[in-house]
Amino acid sequence: MTLPVTLPNLADDCSRCAALCCVAYPFDADEDFALLKRADTPCPNLSETCLNCAIHADLLPKGFGGCVAYQCAGAGQRVTQELFDGETWRDDPDLLEHMTYALRVLRPIHEALLLLQEASRLPIPESAKRQGTGLTAALCPLDPKSIHDFEDDKVQDALADVPAYLQSLAPFV
Ligand code: SF4
Ligand code: SF4
Repeated sequence: MTLPVTLPNLADDCSRCAALCCVAYPFDADEDFALLKRADTPCPNLSETCLNCAIHADLLPKGFGGCVAYQCAGAGQRVTQELFDGETWRDDPDLLEHMTYALRVLRPIHEALLLLQEASRLPIPESAKRQGTGLTAALCPLDPKSIHDFEDDKVQDALADVPAYLQSLAPFV
């Protein structure tokens, strides 16, 4: 079945992102993130002059396994490039909370799209395929201009329906 929408890139491309995950989330100084940090605050390991991690090669030995495990399903670069036209919070600090908010909204949508793509490759009945295609289409608003397009009820309702849909496919896994 052909999708009525074009899927976004669902693979992380950190080179096109503004290191949004290194800013957006709080760290608890636990076994996954070896320091304490508030949400919407740049990690102190981020280079001050660019958007690179200064300990990238040593994340595991330095206690940042959470950074190694983290994936955004392509939401980070989409926020940066499509919703903020390639601008960064480093260049314009006023953008910081808008960009991190957008990542928090878009990441679960991209993760759901990834799961729906994987589910579509299962040997599932046509009716289930149609349902998955409908959910996928609903998660891809046409020509989104801002994160508010992803907060639309239609998108959020579809997002809320994805777990039950995936659960319904359990007999085919
Ligand atoms: S938000 Fe995603 S694309 Fe951006 S740096 Fe983090 S993992 Fe990479
Ligand atoms: S340790 Fe590096 S990868 Fe992890 S949040 Fe900080 S800057 Fe980002």
